[in-house]
Parts: sequence; C-alpha cells; structure tokens
Amino acid sequence: MTNAVEQLHAVKARIETAEREAKRVTGSVTLVAVSKTFSADDIRPVLEAGQRVFGENRVQEAQAKWPALREVFPDIELHLIGPLQSNKAKEAVALFDVIETVDREKIAAELAKEIARQSRALKLYVQVNTGSEPQKAGIEPREAVAFVKRCREVHGLAIEGLMCIPPAEENPGPHFALLEKLAREAGVEKLSMGMSGDYETAIAFGATSVRVGSAIFGSRA
Ligand SMILES: *Cc1c(COP(=O)(O)O)cnc(C)c1O
Repeated sequence: MTNAVEQLHAVKARIETAEREAKRVTGSVTLVAVSKTFSADDIRPVLEAGQRVFGENRVQEAQAKWPALREVFPDIELHLIGPLQSNKAKEAVALFDVIETVDREKIAAELAKEIARQSRALKLYVQVNTGSEPQKAGIEPREAVAFVKRCREVHGLAIEGLMCIPPAEENPGPHFALLEKLAREAGVEKLSMGMSGDYETAIAFGATSVRVGSAIFGSRA
C-alpha cells in the first residue's frame, strides 16, 4: 500500500469514529479527497483503493489531470473548492460535478447560463466567508440567506448546500455552528466544512462532507 492509501484508510476510520461519537449515521459524511497540487500518478492509487470523490481548487489544473483519470474511473465525482472566475465558468461546468464556491451574483448568472447551454445537472453550494476575512472568497454571513434565495429565484439555480473555510488561527467550532445555522435559515441540506486539522470537529457540528487533503496525500510543496 502507498502511504496515501494507508492515510486514506486512517482518515475514513476517524470519520466513522466521529460519526459515531456525534450520534450520526455511519456513512452519512462524504469524504472529499483534496488532490490539488498532486499528480495523476499520486491520485491513481487512491482511486484504486475505492475513493471516488475528489476536490480541486483550480480549473486549469483539474482540466490537465481529470479527463484521463475519468476514462478509467467514470464514476468519479469532482468538486471545485477554489474561487471561480466568470471567464472559467464554461470549463468549470463542463468538468466538475459539484461547484462549492458560488459566492457572487456574476458567478451565479454565468453558471446559470452555462448549465442551461451544456444541459449539465450540476450540484451547487454557496461559499460563506464566516470570518469576514478581506482576503478570503465567499459571501458575507449576513448576506448569505438572501443570496441563496436570489440564486434560486433570479437565476434558477438549485443550491444544495453551504461551504466555509474558517480563519486559520481561530477555533473553528463557532464558524461551523454559524454555517449550520445559515443553512437551516436558507433551507439547504448540505454542509461542506472541515479540513485535515478539524474535520472531526466539523462532523460534530453537522458537516455532511469534509474536504481532506494533506492528511491523505501528505504536505503540499
Ligand atoms: C486545500 C483545501 C482543503 C484541504 O486542506 P488540507 O488542510 O490539506 O486538508 C480544503 N478546502 C479547501 C477549500 C482547500 O483549498
């Protein structure tokens, strides 16, 4: 077994333990394996070990790696977890199955146009900047519920969930709790929260998917 495969199994075991401790149904949390910066050769053993859901943060990098892998593993589910520029909406809609980073009107409009043009059944999440960090993508928490509503009513987008990346130096718990509260208010079911350092905490706060990179693939260069 490669190191990444061993670490994949370890992360999956810890997810199961966290589900049990939070009195959640076993298997109710989806593991999104974040493969950004890692090559197709690094990813293949993890695919062969059965992992099918992956996250990438750049459209171009994902385009270079995933079409070939998908020919061998057609049941892959690919999540875009990085900021989306509107001039990349066409490529993103063609390649990804879930876009987790809808965070402004212009992107919502571009995605709606491309989803209709390409007849793609994409899943969409709204990214919320729970810490209101100026350098970070995501809609402000106080605007999130109204933005989900506009995505639905103005753009016809079926938003399924919310996603957040808490500030690096803060206790993530209050950010996860805020995302859960906003999801309830907005009437969406999916909560993408938790990364290598805090995915067990996120599961305790109701995460339906966790995005784990370095704990599986190792540290990024
Ligand atoms: C890189 C990244 C992750 C994974 O981070 P790790 O700490 O390596 O698990 C999760 N979410 C987003 C949005 C990322 O960009």
